[in-house]
Amino acid sequence: LFITFEGGEGSGKTTHSLLLKEYLGERGYEVLLTREPGGTVLAEAVRSILLNPNSNIVPLSELFLYEAARAQHVEEFVSPALKAGKTVICDRFTDATVVYQGYGRKLDLQLIDSLNSMASFGLMPVLTIYLDISPSEGFINRSKKLNREIYGDSGDRIERESLQFHNRIREGYLSQAEKYPERIKIVKTQETVEKTKVLIREIVDAVL
Ligand code: C5P
Ligand code: MG
Repeated sequence: LFITFEGGEGSGKTTHSLLLKEYLGERGYEVLLTREPGGTVLAEAVRSILLNPNSNIVPLSELFLYEAARAQHVEEFVSPALKAGKTVICDRFTDATVVYQGYGRKLDLQLIDSLNSMASFGLMPVLTIYLDISPSEGFINRSKKLNREIYGDSGDRIERESLQFHNRIREGYLSQAEKYPERIKIVKTQETVEKTKVLIREIVDAVL
């Protein structure tokens, strides 16, 4: 079972990935939590380049770095885990590349699609939870604390982009969800984590 979380900044992907891991764990699934970019030593190194506010990265090299990290992550970590019968929950995957590098950076969407399927070796999630939040709310809500605690992340390059950029990200996710309604489920983030968690569990229950 391969499940991904997507969403803009401060949408709660990390929190809800953890909560879903707990839920599936209680139900007897062996769950591994991972993230993109990242999830292996090489891909985490690529991540730190990508997120470093001092990195000067042109859009096309940004795209290639995401895809390089993905190829490594899928082949080294995700696919073997799935083959061993484990459930993998991944914080961001190919949709993020369509949205950030396509809608955000305005790179060609067909090019991104073909690089995405190359780098993921055709692997697709059975379910993608898109946590929908308005960029302004996301910025207010955003608590990097959890990512800092778990991974030692510091502030990143993309969070410094304009509100227009983040609005394009949201539009991009909504178009992806419209394009793949079977796979991508939109969850509007609620006023409490608890309420959002319940909505996510209902969706996951329907898939199991
Ligand atoms: O959500 P998370 O903090 O893990 O993502 C790290 C950063 O990478 C975010 O600021 C996100 O906007 C950015 N990102 C990106 N393009 C992607 C995936 C993530 O710019 N394809
Ligand atoms: Mg972030």
